[in-house]
Amino acid sequence: MSDCLFCKLVAGEIPSNKVYEDDDFLGFHDIAPKADTHLLLIPKKHIVNLDDLQPEDAVLMGKLLLTIPKLAKQENLEGYRTITNTGEKGGQEVFHMHFHILAGSNLPGF
Ligand code: AMP
Repeated sequence: MSDCLFCKLVAGEIPSNKVYEDDDFLGFHDIAPKADTHLLLIPKKHIVNLDDLQPEDAVLMGKLLLTIPKLAKQENLEGYRTITNTGEKGGQEVFHMHFHILAGSNLPGF
């Protein structure tokens, strides 16, 4: 997707503060952190959001879930909140699926 911000991050066309990369995923610091630590984990494949998932994405999504605790451990997070917003009414602003990983002392109650 040539006009997708996160696809441009994956392609290296826009710089990111990268913390993790493998064949399938990219992890980086959110540019406007909402917690002491605010990371984003995205699939390199352009998937819009959970509503866009296809059956063939099942293995990729399983790998993504397994990558979250791996990344949290790498970053020494003792506990964290994981959020993915789906659709405009779900608060999604960037339409390339991403999982927010939030940690630190100032997480508000939920
Ligand atoms: P969402 O509202 O769930 O779509 O979240 C999009 C997130 O992407 C927001 O928390 C933004 O701060 C973050 N963001 C937008 N542009 C960038 C960027 N270039 N690098 C890192 N994070 C970004």
